[in-house]
Amino acid sequence: MNIRGALQGKRPQYRSNMFVTKKWSSWFRLSRESVSTKTCGACERELPDESYSVEQRGLRQSIRRCEECVAASNQLVLMKKGRTRSEADHCSICCLPLPLDADGSTLFKACCMNILCNGCTLAAANFGMEDCPFCRVPTPDESQALVMIKKLADAGDPLAVYNLGTKYEYGEYGLEKDVTRAVELYERAAELGVKEAHYNIGVLYDEGTDVEKDVAKAIRHYESAAMGGDVSARYNLGSEEHNSGNYDLALQHFLISAKMGDEDSLGMIKAAFMDGLASKADYATALRGYRESIDEMSSPDRDKAKSLGFEEILRTAAHNLKVPERWMEQSRRRAQDWTAPTAAVAGAGQCTKRRGQMTAAGDEIAERRAATKGHDPKGWRL
Ligand SMILES: [Zn+2]
Ligand SMILES: [Zn+2]
Ligand SMILES: [Zn+2]
Repeated sequence: MNIRGALQGKRPQYRSNMFVTKKWSSWFRLSRESVSTKTCGACERELPDESYSVEQRGLRQSIRRCEECVAASNQLVLMKKGRTRSEADHCSICCLPLPLDADGSTLFKACCMNILCNGCTLAAANFGMEDCPFCRVPTPDESQALVMIKKLADAGDPLAVYNLGTKYEYGEYGLEKDVTRAVELYERAAELGVKEAHYNIGVLYDEGTDVEKDVAKAIRHYESAAMGGDVSARYNLGSEEHNSGNYDLALQHFLISAKMGDEDSLGMIKAAFMDGLASKADYATALRGYRESIDEMSSPDRDKAKSLGFEEILRTAAHNLKVPERWMEQSRRRAQDWTAPTAAVAGAGQCTKRRGQMTAAGDEIAERRAATKGHDPKGWRL
């Protein structure tokens, strides 16, 4: 058959009146039925319109999903994403994953928005380094730090926007406590991909003390944070499922966070195993993953810093830098501010969720500039 012939073959055939009528009537029948029911492209059930979200109703059958199938696939994505620590969760100097304990084992630097582990802070202190070990900017006091954070936030730095939010939420650095402003900043930071911002919004709506309680909204934000690799958000999702009696989903969440090195999650799996809600294999893989993560998070410098304790690191720094006692006093107070409440480990009973985290790490603010040689603030590299 030549091309012309092929084209001719595709010409619409003559239709009898009867054919047209039949076609019309079947279309009419279909459209009348589709007012009340639609077929889900995944489970292939014919379900009433209310089983679909408004936007799903408009889609063609092959890609249309009922709400049950949407929830199931969302759950699948939730369990698949955020199973490892993100790039942002690594020390900017030694590049190892940051420790998860919020007891002052990390330092947040307002000058360059970097988070450093205590191992690197101790190494810098031993070296007699006075300025930020990353960007060499002198450690600022509170008002200088606020200027730095605001400047970076105005320039659209996601971590600066988030950190400014924490200052408003807790009324720090001389700012008046303003939770509404904090939520605005968190929402902006969350849009820019800061998982901690999602987490903090989640905690605010979950607790409902400073904003109107909205657990569904809190969970949505916990989910976004967890999919970005936030361990505390993953733990809270596990707690939420546990407290709702969904032990299987709770176990899936806790397995992920335990393997990322979270001790409380490991404790929950152990309790679940003892209650017969998790298998021995679950506990064994969680324990193995947990230990591997702990190994990845340790280094000789960090071990030394840990054995010395935050106090001793400060003393080393103070001794090397010849700084006054009051700097140590202030830094010590800050370190205590960040001590995280430990989660209760219970069997099938209630499971305590983790409360908000302030910054991703403790701030370091020093007054030592007064005691050391004067720095010209204009000369700071930002
Ligand atoms: Zn379906
Ligand atoms: Zn480090
Ligand atoms: Zn810096």
